[in-house]
Amino acid sequence: GTAVVLLTRDLRVHDNPALAAACAADRTVPLYVLDPKLAGLSPNRTRFLHQSLVDLREQLRNRGGDLIVREGDPVAETIRVARDTGAETINLAADVSGYARRREQRLRTESERHRIGLELHPGVTVVEPGAVRPGGGGESYKVFTPYFRSWSAATWRRQAPTPKQIDLPNGVTIGRLPGLPAGESPHACEGGETAARHRLTTWMRQDIEGYGEAHDDLPGDGTSRLSPYLRWGCLSPLALAEAARERGADAFVRQLCWRDFYYQVTRAFPTLSTEAMRPAADRDWRHDDDALQHWKDGLTGVPIVDAGMRQLREEGWMHNRARLITAAFLTKHLGIDWRPGVAWFFRWLLDGDVPNNSGNWQWTAGTGNDTRPYRRFNPIRQALRFDPEGVYVRRYVPELKGIDGAAVHQPWRLPESEFRSLDYPGPLESHRDEAVWLR
Ligand code: FAD
Repeated sequence: GTAVVLLTRDLRVHDNPALAAACAADRTVPLYVLDPKLAGLSPNRTRFLHQSLVDLREQLRNRGGDLIVREGDPVAETIRVARDTGAETINLAADVSGYARRREQRLRTESERHRIGLELHPGVTVVEPGAVRPGGGGESYKVFTPYFRSWSAATWRRQAPTPKQIDLPNGVTIGRLPGLPAGESPHACEGGETAARHRLTTWMRQDIEGYGEAHDDLPGDGTSRLSPYLRWGCLSPLALAEAARERGADAFVRQLCWRDFYYQVTRAFPTLSTEAMRPAADRDWRHDDDALQHWKDGLTGVPIVDAGMRQLREEGWMHNRARLITAAFLTKHLGIDWRPGVAWFFRWLLDGDVPNNSGNWQWTAGTGNDTRPYRRFNPIRQALRFDPEGVYVRRYVPELKGIDGAAVHQPWRLPESEFRSLDYPGPLESHRDEAVWLR
């Protein structure tokens, strides 16, 4: 028989359960549908997606197959391709966002109507969302530590075999990939499984050992930078977690668990990107478009915040510690709603997705899964601790390049004439009240 696999955010040939299942049939149709509804969200991610699709097509061609490309409503196009090729089943990786689940539901209805089987597969996370549940009922864990315990003790699935040979049905129209679209960030990393495996090899060889100590060091840049590849499934989260576990890289495995944690939160709470998980904490946010704009532009006058915000635009990625500092600055310091923060990150981040972006924003704003929702992040204390020499700030804020050492974190403390000679703003008017603790 013939099987279709609708690829979505599992853009790889290794350990791809949906693809492997489709390849067990005599004829396989690996399909990607360019969805106009998702196209405009983020130029950075659109570019990364296209690079990933070009690479995936190459991987499939190396195995005798191809990537069949269509454009339009993914459900209608998938059904059309399945009917045209006489397919008996459609395979798909299960996903958690509201959008993905509505798509899955519609695909189920339509495939039943046309008597085509729909098979859902794991592969987007290490442990399937919902596979481990809290004792005493409840659909999902709301606190990380007990989740981590169950997640670590769970039996992980076996990796799916990488297909060796892929046979397309006769006469299927391949479909064209449009030219590479422009992104917005000049130093964004390149998409695709091949690029992911290069990055993975370097990471496993050089840096994973020191992760426990180095992951919070802003200038050291000692994290894996694998998040965009995980986001698009250019890399199998399970294969990565297993490799890390074998090396005893416990701190790194724990971070991968955070990713799974927010997926199972989203599965139980699909409106995560718009609704507060703890409505009582969704306080009266301040409306201050001017301050919001300064924050977006990396012109708050607080160098550590501005450095993070500029890294975001420069690279389409931001160090986790800087994400915490900038998000806490917007919500807890400026008192501005987390939703515009979510939206701004979502536009730029190559790894931007609903569970991790909204989940972490809500955690930081105190409306989500933080067990200490009222904690404050003093940006200056954070800066002195995680960028003690100011190297990270000088890397991203060229106006401050001439200030040596830690003094770069509080330029307003410089002699008046020196501060004025910098082309750099003083701390935002709107938080002048707090200037005392900034000093
Ligand atoms: P590493 O430190 O090398 O960690 C390895 C992997 O573990 C990451 O690739 C990621 O998949 C996972 N991970 C690490 N920390 C977290 C975390 N706190 N939550 C969930 N997963 C984690 N991550 C995203 O993937 N997409 C987002 O849209 C996103 N938005 C965020 C927004 C805010 C406000 C904050 C505070 C964090 C956000 N994160 C997001 C989490 C984290 O910052 C990134 O996953 C991490 O910085 C990616 O860099 P890395 O691959 O070098 O991470």
